[in-house]
Amino acid sequence: MEKLLNLLTLNRVRFHALSLRGRVLLSQIPLSATMLLLFLWIALTDAALFDDSRLRASVVLTVALFAACVVVPWERLPYPSFLAVPLLDFVPIGLLRESAADTVTGLGLLAAFPVIWLAASGQLPRFSIFASALATLGVVWVPLFIGDARVTLESLTQPLLLPFMMFAIAVTVSVMTSSMTEQQRVVESKDVELRALLDDTARRERLLNAIVNAVGVGVLAIGEDGRRLMMNSTQQALHEYGMPRGVLDAREDDLLLFGEGGTVPLAAEERPERRAAAGETFSDYLVWIGEPGNQRVLSTSARTIRDADGRMEGSVIAYSDVTEFVAALAAKDDFVSHVSHELRTPLTSIHGYAELIGMSENLPSEVEWGLEVITRNSTQLLGLVSDLLGAASGATEIRVAPNDLAALVRSAVNAGLPRAAAAGIALQADTPESLPVSCDAARMTQVLDNLISNAIKYSPQGGAVTVHAGATDDGVMFSVTDTGMGMSDQDARDVFTRFFRSSEARRSVIPGLGLGLALAKDIVERHGGSLTCRSVLGEGSVFTCTLPATESAREVAEAR
Ligand code: ADP
Repeated sequence: MEKLLNLLTLNRVRFHALSLRGRVLLSQIPLSATMLLLFLWIALTDAALFDDSRLRASVVLTVALFAACVVVPWERLPYPSFLAVPLLDFVPIGLLRESAADTVTGLGLLAAFPVIWLAASGQLPRFSIFASALATLGVVWVPLFIGDARVTLESLTQPLLLPFMMFAIAVTVSVMTSSMTEQQRVVESKDVELRALLDDTARRERLLNAIVNAVGVGVLAIGEDGRRLMMNSTQQALHEYGMPRGVLDAREDDLLLFGEGGTVPLAAEERPERRAAAGETFSDYLVWIGEPGNQRVLSTSARTIRDADGRMEGSVIAYSDVTEFVAALAAKDDFVSHVSHELRTPLTSIHGYAELIGMSENLPSEVEWGLEVITRNSTQLLGLVSDLLGAASGATEIRVAPNDLAALVRSAVNAGLPRAAAAGIALQADTPESLPVSCDAARMTQVLDNLISNAIKYSPQGGAVTVHAGATDDGVMFSVTDTGMGMSDQDARDVFTRFFRSSEARRSVIPGLGLGLALAKDIVERHGGSLTCRSVLGEGSVFTCTLPATESAREVAEAR
């Protein structure tokens, strides 16, 4: 039934899916069926009409045209020769109209069937419109010319309504058809574009999956509601590692995640996934995963995904396994601290005994000179060893008390004068009378000593080092300026990194470990201040330290 309905309603999709012969046949059926019904009607009501040869010819032609639709191999004929059928349809219609006009009225309207076919075919639109109008004109005029009656202007104009109607129908159908064809073309081209887009998207997805699974980093994507959208294979393995025993399908809250050191479980809001779901962006956030005693250390980073309007759509979290790296760092610190401890005791005694012997009187001059060398070198070695110890033991306690920065600067400069004089460098302080500050005097002196001794160490003979101190809008500052070898921009940026030594320092074989500035920066920052470096290669460097106002300095130090 559905099939039949589809056929009768000329369902577009099915009609286009038909073969050309099927389409020709289907287009001819409405007219042939109507004509046959009319022939039957005439046979039943007025059979005498069949004596008229025109009616018989109409029957024969109707049947012949229908048969042609079935028999002729339209696919093999030049396109669109099938239009001959609707054109020829006007002949049996004209013959029927002429022979049975008295019995059945309005037979000329049958022309609407071939007119619609011609116009709806979408082929040769202009030809179809004019052919429709002319053929209908033929239907009404030809009998006038071949008949016996006299052709008058009135007899010619009277039946013009029919051709005019058919012309209008042809124009309307043709316009609708071309607009539908255009729409169809647009839909088809959109369909092609959509398919290409889908193929491209599928290809990108495969590529992304391959990349995400190939990297040795766990990757997790979550939606704006915290729902997990994607997890790569590495993350899957890490996830399983963090699952408590006996739990098969762990949620983020169930995972065994711990904070610094791997002992204190992470609170819900400190978990990387929760932080990312809350819209936080972070890098290198260390978490410990797994049962205590058998944990792995993960460095986690998160970035939010935003749509074109800047609204958060979700987040991507990356988990890198840094267990070996963290273990290596701990082993290195352990080793450094151990070695420096072992070195300090014999060194202190060498230094002490050298000084003791130096106090004796009447020593030969070469012994005195030798003792001086021992003392100088052992002092330097002790300095290096305490730098090493300081770096390995990490944060030293800061005890903040009211101090005068100007006095601290002046005494550090005084302490550096002998070394500056020996190196042929002019060292001077430029400070106001007093500069009240809250700081740990011993630690701040350590910073000043380090900066001043560096300025002397990395300046050639004849250079000048100035230590300037003063007040700022929100605290105090001091700077150490030298006219020494300076550094490149890149080196000046890396200068506070542990064990960093500039290329110039390495080339000029000036001894050092690259730890002093890292320690100095740590001390200043733990006072709530900052330590920066500006340097020009071959011209000199300026190290600037700022410290916050008295009260805030105390708060920062107490909070640490
Ligand atoms: P060390 O002096 O023991 O090598 P530091 O941490 O004090 O270690 O300094 C790190 C590096 O920074 C030095 O090796 C040197 O290359 C560079 N540096 C520090 N101060 C200066 C300076 N005033 N002028 C030029 N280079 C400097």
